[in-house]
Amino acid sequence: MVAEIEATYADTRALTGLAAMSPRVRAAMAKVERHRLVAAGQQALAYRNHPLPIGHGQTISQPYIVALSTDLIAPAPHMVALEVGTGSGYQAAVLAEIVKQVYSIELLAPLGHEAALRLKEMGYANIEVRIGDGYQGWPERAPFDAIVVTAAAPSIPPALLAQLKPGGRMVIPVGATGEVQRLLVVTKDAGGTVAQREVLPVRFVPLVPGK
Ligand code: SAH
Repeated sequence: MVAEIEATYADTRALTGLAAMSPRVRAAMAKVERHRLVAAGQQALAYRNHPLPIGHGQTISQPYIVALSTDLIAPAPHMVALEVGTGSGYQAAVLAEIVKQVYSIELLAPLGHEAALRLKEMGYANIEVRIGDGYQGWPERAPFDAIVVTAAAPSIPPALLAQLKPGGRMVIPVGATGEVQRLLVVTKDAGGTVAQREVLPVRFVPLVPGK
């Protein structure tokens, strides 16, 4: 799986600006046991570079996209990260291998509870999962050094931008549901000025408006 991700990095280099996985991300991708987070019956497919269904109409993202999203926030051990869209818990686990603390929000309670349980069984003590609406972020735990959004929003949710630390980075797919979206890297500099860079066309499930 790691070799396939490396090959995809090489193929997409012109778009992403990244020739190879960083050593930190590579180590995390090699370590996280994806077969423990895919749905029952899918274990044989766990280490292919493909998304897979996890129930409730949702998917565990393609490993390449997880690696790329993680690299794009430039993760480091001191960081506190927010993930929006826990799903299977895989992206949260990859982040948790590198950063100090991961907070992850999932809208669908059965998915969030299942992911939290499995992540706990796998020994991740630095991941906290909450059931809630990712559009609102997690104000009680903000601000965040990095935010990884794993479902597509029509535009950058203002609450998430507000909860990003100066100097922080957010990765988010932006665009209409069912269409190809743009994976954006959003940066906030020390003075609070926000900039964005388009990285890659992607296809994510929608970030559903919470009630
Ligand atoms: N990061 C996941 C991929 C999950 S797919 C993984 O590694 O497996 C996107 C997830 O976002 C789905 O589980 C979906 O239920 C969730 N989601 C959709 N809208 C949401 C919202 N408003 N707030 C939080 N989670 C949301």
